[in-house]
Amino acid sequence: MSLPQSVDVLIVGAGPTGLCLALALHKHNCNTVLAVDCAEQGGNTSRAIAIHAATLEALDSIGCAQDIMQEARKISGQNMHSKRGTVETATFGPLARYSKFPFVASIPQHVTERVLGEVVQDRGIRVLRPYRVTCVRPSAENPNLTDVIFEDGQSVQARVVVGADGSHSTVSPRERSDWADPDGEPNDEQENMAMQLVIADVTLENAPDWPLGKMNLAVSTDNIFLLAALPGQPYSQIPADQLVYRVATNVPPSFGVPPHAPDTDYLQKVFDAWGPKVTLGLDSPRIIVKQTAWSSRYRTRSSIADTFFARLPTGTNPDGTPLRQGGPIVLVGDAAHIHPPIGGQGMNLGIRDAIKLAPALIEFLRTAPANPTATHAQQDLVDAPLQQWAEERHGRALSVIRFVKGMEELMTLPSGRRWFLGIAPYNPAWVRDVFMGFMCRFTWWRARTAWRVSGLGNP
Ligand SMILES: Cc1cc2nc3c(=O)[nH]c(=O)nc-3n(C[C@H](O)[C@H](O)[C@H](O)COP(=O)(O)OP(=O)(O)OC[C@H]3O[C@@H](n4cnc5c(N)ncnc54)[C@H](O)[C@@H]3O)c2cc1C
Repeated sequence: MSLPQSVDVLIVGAGPTGLCLALALHKHNCNTVLAVDCAEQGGNTSRAIAIHAATLEALDSIGCAQDIMQEARKISGQNMHSKRGTVETATFGPLARYSKFPFVASIPQHVTERVLGEVVQDRGIRVLRPYRVTCVRPSAENPNLTDVIFEDGQSVQARVVVGADGSHSTVSPRERSDWADPDGEPNDEQENMAMQLVIADVTLENAPDWPLGKMNLAVSTDNIFLLAALPGQPYSQIPADQLVYRVATNVPPSFGVPPHAPDTDYLQKVFDAWGPKVTLGLDSPRIIVKQTAWSSRYRTRSSIADTFFARLPTGTNPDGTPLRQGGPIVLVGDAAHIHPPIGGQGMNLGIRDAIKLAPALIEFLRTAPANPTATHAQQDLVDAPLQQWAEERHGRALSVIRFVKGMEELMTLPSGRRWFLGIAPYNPAWVRDVFMGFMCRFTWWRARTAWRVSGLGNP
């Protein structure tokens, strides 16, 4: 299929966010939409393994939740294992009062993208690959429109361009100087224990006998180690009778910088240093990493674009003010915000951005004049739905970033003697563990944690 000359909406990037936007627009009967992606094939890395209740609700609104659930495992809670025993820290069942999805759907991102891709294909939605966008610029014939330029020199004219092209977005209308940590924290390396995470999908020998329907964390005062069994057969190269586990843990700077794609030997060292057998002192054989299906490292950082919607500048007056406003550019998903994977929020937020953007786009397309001489007042009026969407989503993303930062801070409390008011010694990590251990006895506390993670309060 070749590129059309013009479309109403051009979605750059067909990751989970771009695919969901295409599906949501289709659901609203908007069919002059094209999604393009520079990758030959979709969904080839695992990354996100959790879809939360608020996202399942959103996916349900575009008729995709059942397709996802067919490939997912329902997770009813999160267990924290430490030398003091096991406590459940989040219980999702009580969310049944607010959602028909009172659980976490565990499913690796490449499977989510495959499922969404199949639905896209079934519904006849246009997604073209591999097409790499190199830049966007105001159309010469009508600056209200945007020319999207591709690597091979082709171009497509669009009424609205949506950047769903990930954290290195080429669509963003401004320089990346407005892409920063919302609290002004530096994004370079720090002596921060959670700064570097190792994440991998592996098969194991002698894995702990933990319930498959729970996320499991092995916690010591200086490390947190996630072990979660993935559903089904997520990798064709792994025999069907073998469970694939998601492993994620922080690696302190003293261990050196992890490789980009840690191999089985490296992961074995990680297990031997912080694996459940070691941190929990389990009386069981050494856990052996047999095969690595996918792995990555992640340096924790958060960034957010200062606005998710802007008109493409068409040049500047001598005094630096914009000459006139060009076509609308919208940012969604990782193109608009990123943060550490703790709590599994990133993809979820992107999917919800996209599904909630569709009605605003429809309204914009319905009211926006094609006429390039529209006044500023007219433009403000037609931009209102997109502006409103952008402000709301910016607020929601900030709230998620702060939530994730809070969790990260809690998880990386120092282990060692500190002094309270200079007179009483205490160990912050120990105090956290004892406090959590006590509070997690109460269902309302565990349900409160589940509520925050689920996104139902910040859809
Ligand atoms: C190691 C790791 C672990 C993670 N774990 C979790 C987790 O547990 N839970 C969670 O919710 N999130 C997690 N995330 C985050 C999650 O993966 C992202 O939030 C999610 O992929 C965002 O989706 P997206 O569609 O916005 O962007 P992306 O997935 O980055 O997709 C962008 C798409 O745009 C395409 N593209 C890029 N540039 C161009 C261009 N110029 N022209 C055309 N196409 C282009 C790319 O090929 C890609 O397909 C993790 C991320 C990483 C890196």
